[in-house]
Amino acid sequence: MAGKIMPNRLDRVFYQYQQELEAKALEVLRSGRYVLGPEVESFEREFANYTGSRYCVGLASGLDALWLAFRVLGIGSGDEVIVQANTYIASVMGITINGATPVFVEPDIFFNMDTSRLEELVTQRTKAILVVHLYGQSANMKEILQVCRKYHLRLVEDCAQSHGACFQGKMTGTFGDIGCFSFYPSKNLGAYGDGGAIVTDDEEIAGSIRMYRNYGSERRYYNKVVGANSRLDELQAGLLRVRLKHLSELTEERRKLADRYSQELHNERLLLPRVRPGCGSVWHQYVIRTEEREKLIQYLDRQEIGTIIHYPIPPHLSEAYAYLGHKRGDYPLTEEYADTVLSIPMYNGMTDEEQGIVIEALNSFTE
Ligand SMILES: *Cc1c(COP(=O)(O)O)cnc(C)c1O
Repeated sequence: MAGKIMPNRLDRVFYQYQQELEAKALEVLRSGRYVLGPEVESFEREFANYTGSRYCVGLASGLDALWLAFRVLGIGSGDEVIVQANTYIASVMGITINGATPVFVEPDIFFNMDTSRLEELVTQRTKAILVVHLYGQSANMKEILQVCRKYHLRLVEDCAQSHGACFQGKMTGTFGDIGCFSFYPSKNLGAYGDGGAIVTDDEEIAGSIRMYRNYGSERRYYNKVVGANSRLDELQAGLLRVRLKHLSELTEERRKLADRYSQELHNERLLLPRVRPGCGSVWHQYVIRTEEREKLIQYLDRQEIGTIIHYPIPPHLSEAYAYLGHKRGDYPLTEEYADTVLSIPMYNGMTDEEQGIVIEALNSFTE
Protein backbone atom coordinates (compact mmCIF):
# COMPACT_ATOMS: atom_id res chain seq x y z
CA MET A 1 0.00 0.00 0.00
CA ALA A 2 1.21 3.45 -0.87
CA GLY A 3 -0.91 5.01 1.87
CA LYS A 4 -3.20 7.92 1.28
CA ILE A 5 -2.59 9.70 -2.00
CA MET A 6 -3.10 13.41 -1.65
CA PRO A 7 -4.01 15.78 -4.47
CA ASN A 8 -0.72 17.58 -3.88
CA ARG A 9 2.45 16.92 -1.89
CA LEU A 10 4.55 20.02 -1.31
CA ASP A 11 7.01 18.16 0.90
CA ARG A 12 8.30 16.04 -1.98
CA VAL A 13 10.14 18.86 -3.75
CA PHE A 14 11.49 20.12 -0.46
CA TYR A 15 13.10 16.78 0.33
CA GLN A 16 14.36 16.42 -3.23
CA TYR A 17 16.42 19.61 -2.87
CA GLN A 18 16.64 19.64 0.92
CA GLN A 19 20.36 20.34 1.21
CA GLU A 20 20.33 23.23 -1.22
CA LEU A 21 17.20 24.76 0.29
CA GLU A 22 18.41 24.46 3.87
CA ALA A 23 21.83 25.88 2.98
CA LYS A 24 20.19 28.88 1.30
CA ALA A 25 17.81 29.46 4.21
CA LEU A 26 20.72 29.47 6.66
CA GLU A 27 22.72 31.77 4.41
CA VAL A 28 19.90 34.31 4.35
CA LEU A 29 19.19 34.02 8.07
CA ARG A 30 22.86 34.63 8.83
CA SER A 31 23.19 37.51 6.37
CA GLY A 32 21.29 40.10 8.38
CA ARG A 33 19.41 41.21 5.23
CA TYR A 34 15.76 40.21 5.20
CA VAL A 35 13.77 42.54 2.94
CA LEU A 36 14.74 43.94 -0.49
CA GLY A 37 18.34 42.80 -0.51
CA PRO A 38 20.69 40.87 -2.78
CA GLU A 39 18.57 37.71 -3.00
CA VAL A 40 15.58 39.62 -4.35
CA GLU A 41 17.80 41.46 -6.82
CA SER A 42 19.35 38.22 -8.04
CA PHE A 43 16.02 36.46 -8.27
CA GLU A 44 14.55 39.34 -10.26
CA ARG A 45 17.45 39.18 -12.69
CA GLU A 46 17.27 35.41 -13.01
CA PHE A 47 13.49 35.24 -13.39
CA ALA A 48 13.46 38.03 -15.99
CA ASN A 49 16.10 36.05 -17.82
CA TYR A 50 14.17 32.81 -17.54
CA THR A 51 11.01 34.33 -18.99
CA GLY A 52 12.83 36.38 -21.60
CA SER A 53 11.67 39.72 -20.16
CA ARG A 54 13.73 42.81 -19.56
CA TYR A 55 12.47 43.44 -16.03
CA CYS A 56 11.09 41.50 -13.10
CA VAL A 57 9.86 43.04 -9.85
CA GLY A 58 9.37 40.77 -6.83
CA LEU A 59 6.15 41.26 -4.85
CA ALA A 60 4.38 39.75 -1.86
CA SER A 61 1.77 37.73 -3.77
CA GLY A 62 0.14 36.98 -7.10
CA LEU A 63 -2.89 39.03 -6.17
CA ASP A 64 -0.66 42.04 -5.51
CA ALA A 65 0.98 41.52 -8.91
CA LEU A 66 -2.47 41.64 -10.53
CA TRP A 67 -3.91 44.67 -8.80
CA LEU A 68 -0.68 46.63 -8.99
CA ALA A 69 -0.53 45.86 -12.72
CA PHE A 70 -3.91 47.48 -13.33
CA ARG A 71 -3.06 50.31 -10.93
CA VAL A 72 0.11 51.34 -12.77
CA LEU A 73 -1.68 51.04 -16.12
CA GLY A 74 -4.17 53.59 -14.81
CA ILE A 75 -7.16 51.27 -15.13
CA GLY A 76 -9.86 51.91 -12.54
CA SER A 77 -13.34 53.24 -11.98
CA GLY A 78 -15.43 53.41 -15.15
CA ASP A 79 -13.11 51.08 -17.06
CA GLU A 80 -13.86 47.55 -18.20
CA VAL A 81 -11.46 44.61 -18.33
CA ILE A 82 -12.31 41.43 -20.19
CA VAL A 83 -11.39 38.27 -18.25
CA GLN A 84 -12.40 34.65 -18.55
CA ALA A 85 -15.29 33.65 -16.32
CA ASN A 86 -13.77 30.31 -15.28
CA THR A 87 -10.80 31.52 -13.30
CA TYR A 88 -9.60 31.66 -9.75
CA ILE A 89 -11.30 34.61 -8.08
CA ALA A 90 -7.98 36.40 -7.47
CA SER A 91 -7.77 37.21 -11.20
CA VAL A 92 -11.02 39.13 -10.91
CA MET A 93 -10.04 40.82 -7.63
CA GLY A 94 -6.97 42.24 -9.37
CA ILE A 95 -9.42 44.16 -11.54
CA THR A 96 -12.06 45.13 -9.00
CA ILE A 97 -9.66 46.29 -6.25
CA ASN A 98 -8.96 49.18 -8.61
CA GLY A 99 -12.66 49.93 -9.06
CA ALA A 100 -12.73 48.63 -12.65
CA THR A 101 -15.46 46.30 -13.90
CA PRO A 102 -14.75 42.73 -15.00
CA VAL A 103 -16.48 41.66 -18.20
CA PHE A 104 -16.57 37.89 -18.35
CA VAL A 105 -15.91 35.76 -21.38
CA GLU A 106 -16.73 32.06 -21.63
CA PRO A 107 -13.98 29.43 -21.90
CA ASP A 108 -13.10 27.22 -24.85
CA ILE A 109 -12.67 23.43 -24.64
CA PHE A 110 -9.11 23.94 -23.42
CA PHE A 111 -10.37 25.81 -20.31
CA ASN A 112 -8.88 29.06 -21.61
CA MET A 113 -10.72 32.14 -22.87
CA ASP A 114 -12.79 31.61 -25.99
CA THR A 115 -11.11 34.12 -28.25
CA SER A 116 -13.91 33.95 -30.82
CA ARG A 117 -16.16 35.74 -28.31
CA LEU A 118 -13.78 38.55 -27.40
CA GLU A 119 -14.67 41.15 -30.00
CA GLU A 120 -18.38 41.19 -29.22
CA LEU A 121 -17.53 42.19 -25.63
CA VAL A 122 -15.42 45.22 -26.49
CA THR A 123 -17.10 48.56 -25.66
CA GLN A 124 -16.01 52.19 -25.42
CA ARG A 125 -15.05 51.49 -21.83
CA THR A 126 -12.89 48.44 -22.47
CA LYS A 127 -9.32 49.20 -21.46
CA ALA A 128 -7.67 45.80 -21.18
CA ILE A 129 -7.82 42.05 -21.49
CA LEU A 130 -6.67 39.89 -18.60
CA VAL A 131 -5.72 36.51 -19.99
CA VAL A 132 -5.36 33.61 -17.52
CA HIS A 133 -3.25 30.67 -18.65
CA LEU A 134 -5.40 28.32 -16.63
CA TYR A 135 -4.15 24.99 -15.27
CA GLY A 136 -0.77 25.67 -16.88
CA GLN A 137 -1.78 25.83 -20.52
CA SER A 138 -1.04 28.88 -22.63
CA ALA A 139 -4.07 30.62 -24.08
CA ASN A 140 -4.37 31.31 -27.81
CA MET A 141 -2.20 34.42 -27.78
CA LYS A 142 -2.27 35.07 -31.50
CA GLU A 143 -6.00 35.78 -31.47
CA ILE A 144 -5.85 37.74 -28.24
CA LEU A 145 -3.05 39.97 -29.51
CA GLN A 146 -5.04 40.66 -32.67
CA VAL A 147 -8.01 41.91 -30.67
CA CYS A 148 -5.73 44.00 -28.42
CA ARG A 149 -4.10 45.66 -31.43
CA LYS A 150 -7.36 46.29 -33.23
CA TYR A 151 -9.00 48.04 -30.26
CA HIS A 152 -5.86 49.47 -28.61
CA LEU A 153 -6.32 47.45 -25.44
CA ARG A 154 -3.76 46.79 -22.76
CA LEU A 155 -2.90 43.17 -22.13
CA VAL A 156 -2.17 41.72 -18.70
CA GLU A 157 -1.35 38.04 -18.26
CA ASP A 158 -2.19 36.01 -15.16
CA CYS A 159 0.62 33.46 -15.13
CA ALA A 160 0.05 32.22 -11.59
CA GLN A 161 -0.37 28.70 -12.99
CA SER A 162 1.82 28.88 -16.09
CA HIS A 163 5.48 29.39 -15.10
CA GLY A 164 7.45 28.28 -18.13
CA ALA A 165 4.48 27.55 -20.41
CA CYS A 166 4.99 28.75 -23.97
CA PHE A 167 2.76 29.81 -26.83
CA GLN A 168 4.52 28.91 -30.07
CA GLY A 169 7.88 28.96 -28.30
CA LYS A 170 7.45 32.30 -26.50
CA MET A 171 6.89 32.27 -22.78
CA THR A 172 3.60 33.26 -21.20
CA GLY A 173 3.92 36.55 -19.36
CA THR A 174 5.89 38.17 -22.20
CA PHE A 175 3.06 38.84 -24.67
CA GLY A 176 1.36 41.74 -22.96
CA ASP A 177 2.24 44.87 -21.04
CA ILE A 178 2.66 43.00 -17.78
CA GLY A 179 2.95 39.33 -16.80
CA CYS A 180 1.77 38.52 -13.26
CA PHE A 181 3.14 35.56 -11.32
CA SER A 182 2.35 33.94 -7.99
CA PHE A 183 4.84 31.88 -6.01
CA TYR A 184 2.29 30.52 -3.55
CA PRO A 185 3.70 27.17 -2.32
CA SER A 186 1.46 25.01 -4.52
CA LYS A 187 2.32 26.80 -7.78
CA ASN A 188 4.76 25.23 -10.23
CA LEU A 189 7.42 27.65 -9.01
CA GLY A 190 6.47 27.74 -5.35
CA ALA A 191 8.03 29.50 -2.39
CA TYR A 192 7.82 28.48 1.27
CA GLY A 193 5.35 31.20 2.08
CA ASP A 194 3.72 33.86 -0.08
CA GLY A 195 5.39 35.55 -3.01
CA GLY A 196 4.71 37.03 -6.42
CA ALA A 197 6.26 39.08 -9.21
CA ILE A 198 5.57 40.94 -12.41
CA VAL A 199 7.63 40.82 -15.57
CA THR A 200 7.63 43.50 -18.24
CA ASP A 201 9.75 44.94 -21.02
CA ASP A 202 8.68 48.47 -20.14
CA GLU A 203 11.14 50.33 -17.95
CA GLU A 204 8.55 52.82 -16.76
CA ILE A 205 6.11 50.11 -15.71
CA ALA A 206 8.86 48.26 -13.85
CA GLY A 207 9.82 51.48 -12.07
CA SER A 208 6.22 52.23 -11.14
CA ILE A 209 5.64 48.78 -9.69
CA ARG A 210 8.90 49.09 -7.76
CA MET A 211 7.65 52.35 -6.31
CA TYR A 212 4.20 51.01 -5.46
CA ARG A 213 5.53 47.93 -3.69
CA ASN A 214 7.40 50.11 -1.25
CA TYR A 215 4.78 52.60 0.03
CA GLY A 216 4.98 54.57 -3.19
CA SER A 217 8.51 55.74 -2.60
CA GLU A 218 11.58 55.59 -4.80
CA ARG A 219 13.65 57.40 -2.26
CA ARG A 220 13.14 56.74 1.43
CA TYR A 221 10.54 59.07 3.01
CA TYR A 222 9.66 60.69 -0.35
CA ASN A 223 6.30 59.18 -1.24
CA LYS A 224 4.97 59.97 -4.68
CA VAL A 225 1.79 57.86 -4.58
CA VAL A 226 -0.25 55.96 -2.03
CA GLY A 227 1.41 52.60 -2.45
CA ALA A 228 1.44 49.24 -0.76
CA ASN A 229 3.75 47.12 1.30
CA SER A 230 4.26 44.29 -1.15
CA ARG A 231 7.85 43.18 -1.00
CA LEU A 232 9.16 39.75 -1.74
CA ASP A 233 11.34 38.88 1.24
CA GLU A 234 14.93 37.71 1.10
CA LEU A 235 14.23 34.25 2.46
CA GLN A 236 11.56 33.51 -0.16
CA ALA A 237 13.67 35.04 -2.94
CA GLY A 238 16.65 32.90 -1.97
CA LEU A 239 14.56 29.73 -1.84
CA LEU A 240 12.90 30.65 -5.15
CA ARG A 241 16.34 30.95 -6.73
CA VAL A 242 17.05 27.36 -5.74
CA ARG A 243 13.68 26.24 -7.12
CA LEU A 244 14.12 28.23 -10.32
CA LYS A 245 17.41 26.45 -11.05
CA HIS A 246 15.48 23.18 -11.12
CA LEU A 247 12.26 24.43 -12.72
CA SER A 248 12.95 22.97 -16.15
CA GLU A 249 13.44 19.46 -14.79
CA LEU A 250 10.41 19.83 -12.52
CA THR A 251 8.29 20.93 -15.48
CA GLU A 252 9.56 17.99 -17.52
CA GLU A 253 8.54 15.66 -14.71
CA ARG A 254 5.00 17.12 -14.70
CA ARG A 255 4.84 16.65 -18.44
CA LYS A 256 5.71 12.98 -18.07
CA LEU A 257 3.07 12.52 -15.38
CA ALA A 258 0.46 14.19 -17.57
CA ASP A 259 1.45 12.11 -20.59
CA ARG A 260 1.07 8.92 -18.60
CA TYR A 261 -2.39 9.94 -17.41
CA SER A 262 -3.40 10.83 -20.95
CA GLN A 263 -2.11 7.53 -22.32
CA GLU A 264 -3.33 5.18 -19.62
CA LEU A 265 -6.65 6.61 -18.52
CA HIS A 266 -9.46 4.85 -20.37
CA ASN A 267 -12.90 5.38 -19.00
CA GLU A 268 -15.73 6.72 -21.09
CA ARG A 269 -17.17 8.42 -18.01
CA LEU A 270 -14.16 10.71 -17.85
CA LEU A 271 -13.22 13.51 -20.24
CA LEU A 272 -9.48 14.07 -20.31
CA PRO A 273 -7.87 17.51 -20.71
CA ARG A 274 -6.83 18.54 -24.21
CA VAL A 275 -3.97 20.70 -25.37
CA ARG A 276 -4.35 23.06 -28.31
CA PRO A 277 -1.49 22.78 -30.81
CA GLY A 278 1.03 25.57 -30.16
CA CYS A 279 -0.34 26.18 -26.65
CA GLY A 280 2.13 24.42 -24.37
CA SER A 281 1.12 23.27 -20.90
CA VAL A 282 3.23 22.99 -17.77
CA TRP A 283 0.43 20.98 -16.16
CA HIS A 284 -0.20 22.99 -13.04
CA GLN A 285 -3.25 20.73 -12.70
CA TYR A 286 -4.48 17.68 -14.52
CA VAL A 287 -8.19 18.46 -14.79
CA ILE A 288 -10.68 15.87 -15.92
CA ARG A 289 -14.42 16.33 -16.32
CA THR A 290 -17.26 14.03 -15.40
CA GLU A 291 -21.02 14.25 -15.04
CA GLU A 292 -20.74 11.92 -12.05
CA ARG A 293 -18.35 14.04 -10.06
CA GLU A 294 -19.87 13.60 -6.60
CA LYS A 295 -19.87 9.81 -6.99
CA LEU A 296 -16.34 9.81 -8.33
CA ILE A 297 -15.05 11.92 -5.44
CA GLN A 298 -16.66 9.55 -2.90
CA TYR A 299 -15.38 6.49 -4.74
CA LEU A 300 -11.81 7.82 -4.82
CA ASP A 301 -12.06 8.98 -1.24
CA ARG A 302 -12.92 5.43 -0.15
CA GLN A 303 -9.64 4.35 -1.76
CA GLU A 304 -7.81 7.14 0.02
CA ILE A 305 -7.22 9.12 -3.16
CA GLY A 306 -7.71 12.84 -2.70
CA THR A 307 -8.98 15.25 -5.34
CA ILE A 308 -9.72 18.98 -5.55
CA ILE A 309 -12.22 21.04 -7.55
CA HIS A 310 -10.67 24.04 -9.33
CA TYR A 311 -13.10 25.82 -8.91
CA PRO A 312 -16.55 24.96 -7.60
CA ILE A 313 -18.01 28.51 -7.62
CA PRO A 314 -17.20 30.75 -10.58
CA PRO A 315 -16.42 34.37 -9.63
CA HIS A 316 -19.65 35.73 -11.19
CA LEU A 317 -21.70 33.58 -8.76
CA SER A 318 -19.62 34.20 -5.66
CA GLU A 319 -21.03 36.30 -2.84
CA ALA A 320 -18.18 38.77 -3.20
CA TYR A 321 -19.44 39.70 -6.67
CA ALA A 322 -23.15 39.74 -5.98
CA TYR A 323 -22.94 43.50 -6.63
CA LEU A 324 -22.19 42.83 -10.29
CA GLY A 325 -25.71 41.45 -10.59
CA HIS A 326 -24.95 38.21 -12.41
CA LYS A 327 -27.10 35.12 -12.00
CA ARG A 328 -26.89 31.41 -12.68
CA GLY A 329 -27.25 30.83 -16.39
CA ASP A 330 -25.33 33.96 -17.45
CA TYR A 331 -22.24 31.92 -18.34
CA PRO A 332 -23.52 28.39 -18.98
CA LEU A 333 -20.24 26.87 -20.13
CA THR A 334 -18.35 28.30 -17.16
CA GLU A 335 -21.04 26.94 -14.85
CA GLU A 336 -20.94 23.55 -16.51
CA TYR A 337 -17.18 23.39 -15.98
CA ALA A 338 -17.59 24.45 -12.36
CA ASP A 339 -20.03 21.54 -11.91
CA THR A 340 -17.94 18.88 -13.68
CA VAL A 341 -14.20 19.59 -13.34
CA LEU A 342 -12.00 17.56 -11.02
CA SER A 343 -8.24 17.84 -10.46
CA ILE A 344 -6.66 14.45 -9.87
CA PRO A 345 -3.41 13.94 -7.92
CA MET A 346 -0.51 15.50 -9.77
CA TYR A 347 2.67 16.76 -8.15
CA ASN A 348 6.42 16.72 -8.46
CA GLY A 349 7.77 13.67 -6.70
CA MET A 350 4.67 11.56 -7.40
CA THR A 351 5.88 7.95 -7.62
CA ASP A 352 5.09 5.53 -10.45
CA GLU A 353 3.33 3.38 -7.89
CA GLU A 354 1.14 6.24 -6.66
CA GLN A 355 0.18 7.24 -10.17
CA GLY A 356 -0.51 3.60 -11.04
CA ILE A 357 -2.95 3.35 -8.15
CA VAL A 358 -4.78 6.49 -9.26
CA ILE A 359 -4.98 5.25 -12.87
CA GLU A 360 -6.22 1.82 -11.82
CA ALA A 361 -8.88 3.37 -9.59
CA LEU A 362 -10.09 5.79 -12.27
CA ASN A 363 -10.21 3.10 -14.94
CA SER A 364 -12.28 0.85 -12.65
CA PHE A 365 -14.83 3.54 -11.80
CA THR A 366 -18.24 2.38 -12.93
CA GLU A 367 -20.95 3.82 -10.75
C1 LIG B 1 -2.88 31.47 -7.20
C2 LIG B 1 -3.51 32.33 -8.19
C3 LIG B 1 -3.58 33.71 -8.04
C4 LIG B 1 -3.23 34.41 -6.76
O1 LIG B 1 -1.92 34.26 -6.32
P1 LIG B 1 -1.60 34.47 -4.77
O2 LIG B 1 -0.11 34.46 -4.72
O3 LIG B 1 -2.21 33.35 -4.02
O4 LIG B 1 -2.15 35.80 -4.36
C5 LIG B 1 -4.11 34.46 -9.08
N1 LIG B 1 -4.56 33.89 -10.20
C6 LIG B 1 -4.52 32.56 -10.39
C7 LIG B 1 -5.02 31.99 -11.67
C8 LIG B 1 -4.01 31.72 -9.39
O5 LIG B 1 -3.99 30.40 -9.58
